[in-house]
Amino acid sequence: MKKNSFLGIVLQILVVLVFLMCLYLFIQDKEVQVENQSSNEISVQSTETSSSQVSESENGLPSVLSSDWELVLVNRDNITEELNPEVTEIEGIPVDSRIAENVLNFLAAARTIDANEYLISGYRSVAYQEELYDYYVQQEIANDPSLTQEGAEEVVQTYSQPAGASEHQTGLAIDMSNVASLNESDPDVVQQIKELAPDYGFVLRFADDKRESTGIGYEDWHYRYVGVESAKYMTEHNLSLEEYIAVLKESGK
Ligand SMILES: [Zn+2]
Repeated sequence: MKKNSFLGIVLQILVVLVFLMCLYLFIQDKEVQVENQSSNEISVQSTETSSSQVSESENGLPSVLSSDWELVLVNRDNITEELNPEVTEIEGIPVDSRIAENVLNFLAAARTIDANEYLISGYRSVAYQEELYDYYVQQEIANDPSLTQEGAEEVVQTYSQPAGASEHQTGLAIDMSNVASLNESDPDVVQQIKELAPDYGFVLRFADDKRESTGIGYEDWHYRYVGVESAKYMTEHNLSLEEYIAVLKESGK
């Protein structure tokens, strides 16, 4: 009887021990699982962090906003009222005072390529642009009386813009050439000036391969100030101002 009860106690202790062992192992297993899970989370987080760092440095956009004053977009889709910028005259041509020094330095640099480079036009008010546009339309009709008003305007819009649609009203655009009357000049000279323009914050605004994006034919004399950083980025990535602003907006800038 005593022996049986002793065995019974030993068995009970064994059962309890086995139970405790199982419980211990179960808890251990759970802890390992939790540890694995959290380390997975950490590695996911670290992958995410590094990938966003990579994409930021990959897109390498200049530290500008599409709403910055240098990037104001004026075209037939973005009609703008009189902007009345404060202007400074460079050799008799008014430009936005904030870019006067850039214009002066760009003009000086262009003259090292061709001494005959000069400023044809800078800031033009919306009112003056309207007069100019109407004059061009009348000229087209005089040259070809078969043209309707609409047809004549279509022709004019390849080289001049209606009131409110010309970026000359911003004071940030200049026409610069070595020949008169907005005629095309020596392509080699244009190429060299176009290459140094970004150093002064300018881009040749209406490139031959960007007619679709800008809606304007090739102009080898019309430069637009956008700031040095943006000008270099636009040139490097072959973007028109319309395309560049779309890229900035897409990335929330
Ligand atoms: Zn122009």
